[in-house]
Amino acid sequence: MALVSLKDMLQKADTGRYGVGNFDVFNVEQLIGVMQAQQEMRAPLILAYGPPFEPYSPMRHFARLLRSYAEETDLPVAIHLDHANTLDEVKQAVEAGFTSVMIDASALPYEENIQKTREVVAYCSPLGIPVEAELGHVGAEGDSDPAAYGLTDPSLAGEFVERTGIDALAVAIGNAHGVYKEKPWIRFDLLAAVRREVAVPLVLHGASGIPDEDIRRCTELGISKINIHTELLQSAMESIRRDIEAGSGYYDVFNHHVQAVRERTAEKMRLFGSEGKA
Ligand SMILES: [Zn+2]
Repeated sequence: MALVSLKDMLQKADTGRYGVGNFDVFNVEQLIGVMQAQQEMRAPLILAYGPPFEPYSPMRHFARLLRSYAEETDLPVAIHLDHANTLDEVKQAVEAGFTSVMIDASALPYEENIQKTREVVAYCSPLGIPVEAELGHVGAEGDSDPAAYGLTDPSLAGEFVERTGIDALAVAIGNAHGVYKEKPWIRFDLLAAVRREVAVPLVLHGASGIPDEDIRRCTELGISKINIHTELLQSAMESIRRDIEAGSGYYDVFNHHVQAVRERTAEKMRLFGSEGKA
């Protein structure tokens, strides 16, 4: 099985009304933990990596590691570039072996978002690389300005998908990147309205910290790709703190870190309904 198309993976999830976990990773502890969780859950998996990770773990090297792990497993894996800002970043990722990309031009005005997304689709489409784009703006981690947040306008969604030719649409429905300071207010009404307007699979960014019952409702209403990053970091930090307090040695710190990521990932796969769907 190994590497599969994000498009096929998400279409199956869309039909089956479950979500596939997109786990953003940039080190080997996170990667091994996520891969172990996949084996345990027998779930489809999206291994994601974004340009902000470059200073920690350069893409040209890390992409090889992702592919090496993905190619050896018997379960479906897509290797996805998260939040590319430019066509150049997309090209580098495709050359490095990513099998799908997200172009995030959502901070730009509507027409510019369409133009930039179209450019990426024009490059990716002949190569068979599925493209995800965002309408409305979820905002960057640590973005404290609520005015920068833009809810997805359902009346533009159909046109956006049609004019760009994208394969998956990320929505801004009250979700946010990073840590939620208060309980998020997810606009299920907007999600349902967007779902009526477009046929492509829908993506939820910033799913770390959204309550389980809200995540379940999102998958029922048509979200089929769910992005998790912050909770992997939190589970790792909890584990590292416990080890420091216990005076553990480095190998134990490493093993417990992997274990913590594995457990959190498995929990999410179960929550998304993707357990046993590989
Ligand atoms: Zn995101």
